Amino acid sequence: KNHKVLTLSLLLIYASASAQETKIEQKVDSVLNLMTLKEKVGQLNQLNAGDLTGPADEKNVDILQEIRNGKIGSLLNVRGAKITKELQQEAMKSRLKIPLIFGQDVIHGYRVIFPIPLAEAASWDMDAIKLSARTAAREASSSGIQWTFAPMVDIARDPRWGRVMEGAGEDPYLGSAIAKARVLGFQGKQIGSLDAVMACAKHFAAYGAAIAGRDYNGVDMSKRQLWEVYLPPFKAALDAGAATFMNSFNTLNGIPATGNSYLQRDILKGAWGFKGFVVSDWGSIKEMVAHGYAKDLKQAAQMAITAGNDMDMESKAYDTYLLGLVKEGKVNIDDINEAVKRILNKKFELGLFKNPYRFSDEKREKLELNSSINKAASREVAKKSIVLLKNATSILPLSKSTKTIALIGPLVKANQDMRGFWALSWGKDDIPVSLYDGVKNKLGNKTNLLYAKGCNINDSLTTGFNEAIETAEKADVVVMAVGETFDMTGEAKSKADIHIPGMQEELVKAIVKTGKPLVVLVMGGRPLIFNYTAENVKSILFTWWLGSQAGDAMADVLFGDYNPSGKLPITFPRSMGQIPIYYAQTNTGRPFEEGKSPNYRSTYLDMSNSPQYAFGHGLSYTNFKYSDLKLDKTNIALNDTIKMILNVTNTGKYAGEEVVQLYIKDKVAQPVRPIMELKDFQKIRLNVGETKQITFYIEKEKLSFYNDDLKWIAQPGDFEVMIGSASDDIRLKENFTLIN
Ligand code: BGC
Repeated sequence: KNHKVLTLSLLLIYASASAQETKIEQKVDSVLNLMTLKEKVGQLNQLNAGDLTGPADEKNVDILQEIRNGKIGSLLNVRGAKITKELQQEAMKSRLKIPLIFGQDVIHGYRVIFPIPLAEAASWDMDAIKLSARTAAREASSSGIQWTFAPMVDIARDPRWGRVMEGAGEDPYLGSAIAKARVLGFQGKQIGSLDAVMACAKHFAAYGAAIAGRDYNGVDMSKRQLWEVYLPPFKAALDAGAATFMNSFNTLNGIPATGNSYLQRDILKGAWGFKGFVVSDWGSIKEMVAHGYAKDLKQAAQMAITAGNDMDMESKAYDTYLLGLVKEGKVNIDDINEAVKRILNKKFELGLFKNPYRFSDEKREKLELNSSINKAASREVAKKSIVLLKNATSILPLSKSTKTIALIGPLVKANQDMRGFWALSWGKDDIPVSLYDGVKNKLGNKTNLLYAKGCNINDSLTTGFNEAIETAEKADVVVMAVGETFDMTGEAKSKADIHIPGMQEELVKAIVKTGKPLVVLVMGGRPLIFNYTAENVKSILFTWWLGSQAGDAMADVLFGDYNPSGKLPITFPRSMGQIPIYYAQTNTGRPFEEGKSPNYRSTYLDMSNSPQYAFGHGLSYTNFKYSDLKLDKTNIALNDTIKMILNVTNTGKYAGEEVVQLYIKDKVAQPVRPIMELKDFQKIRLNVGETKQITFYIEKEKLSFYNDDLKWIAQPGDFEVMIGSASDDIRLKENFTLIN
């Protein structure tokens, strides 16, 4: 009889249609009332199901049993409409039939791979970035996934840190715009839409500031820097509706983020009013023991739940200890109820209680995965992510009627590398387009394509050089591809030396000596150092890892079917000794001035202060002229807005896109402000000879910053506005004053 009553009440709660927020809250409460403490803890437990796709050994059977016992709330690393449906069927055998959520790292594409996130950031094109996330969400959701562990919105100012590839670079303003675009792309119209996945803003917080760029290392920073530089992209993700957050492995000022109640309770759930749930990073509750913060896993569980970490990814700390901790009075049952409610809430929003199988749709999956539309989208985003670093004698774009082209270097025929780190693997059939194939696809048999590898990425040998030189000598133009392999940048891929590895620069040198017209493509997931190439090669493209259609996108740019428009979202240093190097530095009392004696100035004896390539840098095959900057007023009160207009003209020979960048400097402030800060930008397209008028607005928000008491204020005084094509290529300047 009891069983019948339960079934009836579940039906009443789960099957009714309304998705309104208040109704959902009532339903969550009704489910919570039916739950035992054990079942509650089960909802907070997330396990890796990766093994389930393999043979059904004992371990897998265990997971299935755990699901039926209501001891698992979510699984990660299981994908496919069929298997997710089967697992959900197991969950329907549990007493309360609470559906599972399937989470997956869908970072830059699902089946069709898009450029790595740092590359996409170089497009400065929010529609392109949104398209990438939207496409990934459509594919993943058809495959049973309802939740991606993305976007990573960590600001990163240290290229040694391997995970720079996964974020949007060094700048909080650009990073916030991109965080928003990615969340909107993943989540689509709303959570619960069949073509959407829940986003997860990670890693909360300051993971990107690891000391010495070493992954997982501790972070020490002032609260002011935390709020001003590292938190804004998280806030932007939240404002865009991010359903979940992930905390992080690092300590922040001595407290692990996972056990950090200032971050999770005071800021995220308190001041910011976040309604979703927080998942730990993989095993990060357990790592609090290794940090020396918790004495054992039990204490770690207590610290994590108390500090506001709702779901335990793979530490099995909650599963093992929460029950006992509540009974001993060491964990407040209210904390557990709150965490469970947050998770159930999302399961209702996803519509899973009503139909647990709605995302596992084999028919849709078949249509969606690897569709030609998705591939075309990837190529589109890929070509926008390429950055033209240098084009001194305008070798580029290459003519499609070039007779003989030599393709030289260890990355010319690389295909799997094009996927970059954090791309799901789909077996041998899915081969991205290499540079070689892209060029071949573009030119067909009209052009004679020669190839020599020259060396391996990590070689200390020059045995392939002669063949490479001979090949170059036979060609009209040489295109080289050098850089890292895809797995030299990513999680746990920090490097103390970020020069392009091996003998590759020596190979470039040998080819330069042939005197042949030369274009070098540098590929990698992070800012790399290649001083010889930067100084001696006239045409250089940075092409990152561009995904499934990489080679086609590169060929589009090489042969002028697309005029490159990417701009660096992160500074490229000349030397490792300059790190950390970023454009928004503060002035010293002894600034270095070009042309003046460097004695007792803030500089290096052996190295310039300037980077190899500055933030915002990126050229085009055409030229843009900036003119006629006019401000409608130069004195504004706190509640005023300045309207400024300027003209940008395409004075070159190709239609093209330009990212017009607006920087501000607060000349005198307490505390001192950076020498310049990006506060707005617009990406525009201009035909040959065309002029467009651009309008920017400046209001209090753009002039505000955190003072010493962490208050967001604007201080009256003099400001400078700088508009240009890069942070080191300012074309127009004006002054204005903020009055009281
Ligand atoms: C990473 C996370 C990721 C998780 C699950 C961790 O190692 O830091 O970003 O989402 O693994 O794969």
